[in-house]
Amino acid sequence: MSIKANDFVLEVEGLTVSFDGFTAVNDLSFYVNEGEIRVIIGPNGAGKTTVLDLICGRTQATKGSIKFRGKELTRMKEHEIVHTGVGRKFQNPSIYEDLTVFENLEISYPRGRSVFGALAFKRDKEVIREVEATAETIFLKNDLDKQAGLLSHGQKQWLEIGMLLIQKPDLLMLDEPVAGMSVAERKKTADLLNRITEGRSVLVVEHDMQFVEDIAHRVTVMHQGKVLSEGSMTRVKNDPKVIEVYLGH
Ligand code: ADP
Ligand code: MG
Repeated sequence: MSIKANDFVLEVEGLTVSFDGFTAVNDLSFYVNEGEIRVIIGPNGAGKTTVLDLICGRTQATKGSIKFRGKELTRMKEHEIVHTGVGRKFQNPSIYEDLTVFENLEISYPRGRSVFGALAFKRDKEVIREVEATAETIFLKNDLDKQAGLLSHGQKQWLEIGMLLIQKPDLLMLDEPVAGMSVAERKKTADLLNRITEGRSVLVVEHDMQFVEDIAHRVTVMHQGKVLSEGSMTRVKNDPKVIEVYLGH
């Protein structure tokens, strides 16, 4: 096998998907390193969310390959992909509003199979320790007993990140995680992401350029389903092709 297969956590090659003749992702290739925070930016409709849908198995690729730690994901089902260590957060938080912060994290702990099953099992020390450590990471350690529905929008986003973190994914994918957050919450989210990369890679779709600067190791700019530019934030920011696409919108 090639040396490359061992170097990258995620290898996307020639990835293509067409919906009724419209090619949303078009021969896309990119490679993410271990411990890397990669941010995908690009105008609306560029195909960013579709890339995450393809990686997590929600959308079937028309062509191409997605390898995660050398395993081909395009032939796997959504739950199998989760099982290999890929966690994904959608644009709108999907937390249990009626449950407490503690309970939301507890049911996300890999031992919990369903809401009822999870609530029935004994809250042993290990679970409590993991829940408390996760709550601390997501700035909610003083809100463990609070009903999740009463959290601010930003706190709900953190809780959902926590619900993924407690499953210890090797690749964490986030779609517009700071949308609707205050400037202070954005800064805290950047700190949070910068803290969780040990032993894992993070793939983020985001519009907020200050946030992108704060977290991105490398940036992939998408346009019309293709990679327009890639590299450090400084490099892509000064790429005439990128400037043209952004000024044109
Ligand atoms: P972005 O997240 O970059 O704004 P999307 O990935 O959501 O863009 O969408 C890219 C394009 O693909 C859009 O034109 C969108 O309408 C289209 N698209 C996405 N998913 C589907 C689908 N399931 N069926 C048909 N068209 C889709
Ligand atoms: Mg999107």
